[in-house]
Amino acid sequence: MRDFPTSRREFLAAGLALGSCGLAPLPETAHAQDRPADLPPADVDCPRCLGMGLIPLKNPTPYVFISGQGPFKPEDAVAGELCPECLSTADKNLLVEWAKSDHATIEENHRQWQGRLSGRLLLLQTRHATIHAQLRPADARKAGQAVEALTLHLQKVTDSLRLTPTRPVNYLQTLLWNRAAYDQFRKAMEKLYPTEQLGENWLPARDANSYDHFLIAHCYLTPLTLRELPPEYHSLKFAATRQIQVATEWQAPLWLMEGFGAYTQDAILKDVRVSTVYVNDRGPGKPFTLQDARKQHVAGQTRPWEEILPRELREFEKADYTQVLGMVAFLMSREPRQILELVRLIREGSPAENALSEAYGQSVAELDEACGKWLSG
Ligand SMILES: [Zn+2]
Repeated sequence: MRDFPTSRREFLAAGLALGSCGLAPLPETAHAQDRPADLPPADVDCPRCLGMGLIPLKNPTPYVFISGQGPFKPEDAVAGELCPECLSTADKNLLVEWAKSDHATIEENHRQWQGRLSGRLLLLQTRHATIHAQLRPADARKAGQAVEALTLHLQKVTDSLRLTPTRPVNYLQTLLWNRAAYDQFRKAMEKLYPTEQLGENWLPARDANSYDHFLIAHCYLTPLTLRELPPEYHSLKFAATRQIQVATEWQAPLWLMEGFGAYTQDAILKDVRVSTVYVNDRGPGKPFTLQDARKQHVAGQTRPWEEILPRELREFEKADYTQVLGMVAFLMSREPRQILELVRLIREGSPAENALSEAYGQSVAELDEACGKWLSG
């Protein structure tokens, strides 16, 4: 059984995903279409879109819809362009119609949550996530902008949608205001689902301040945490973790998941403040950056990669969090097709060590050395 921090003032929030156990969609989103009915399926072996059917938009403008602040614009919410290789003759208006139909589902779901939480709730929608927020619009907007920036960044770096597989209709977060709202949210979830369906960590998570639950990632903020740990950090970490989990079909090892969450916080928000921790005193303890990973390497305070690859959450120590940030930043800095290949191999069941060697064409020891050179360079 994994543990959760119990301190409400803990700087670092904990969140544990539950793996692939019973990925039942929420009732309101269960009927959302996987793709428009008239759109032919993408070629699963297509070298251009890697089976996604979509490729990144050219020069996209970040899109964040916020309820009460102007109309939803389906043409701006479309997540990508149709693949010019395998869907070249398909009608691109289908994507706009799809975005419209998803938004209607999302709004209905939002109305349901407003009723369950009996309070004012903002709806935010990015191209890849939906956020229900009990926050001021200015604070909530930052969370939406961070998630949108994250997905655009990953698409730009990899020229692919492979690392951003979620859609707003099937990926939800809830940012609550204070502990009472967190308890109310949990009660609402318990009315919707039997406890066993919510997973074995549901009960221990009642004492946490943040929970990356597979149905709806959720956390609560207070006046204190709003200053120290603003909502964009929670939203970004939740969304980054979910992208890598879905991209690997929930088989990403911990070093990759934590490293990816840290790499994206560092890239978008300029430091890392949210990590998944087993107990409070085993977490990073304070914000850190890629610069700290570089310093740690130069000071010789890193483990060989072969030791860190199989490490589990309860074994993670402060220095491991910084090291996995450096590892993933290094892996992302190489040829984009290599990280995409790594993710594909892990998704298909390869152990991480084999997947790394095959994707990058170097042994784990060689990658370890190359990463060290990159960090000290
Ligand atoms: Zn294609």
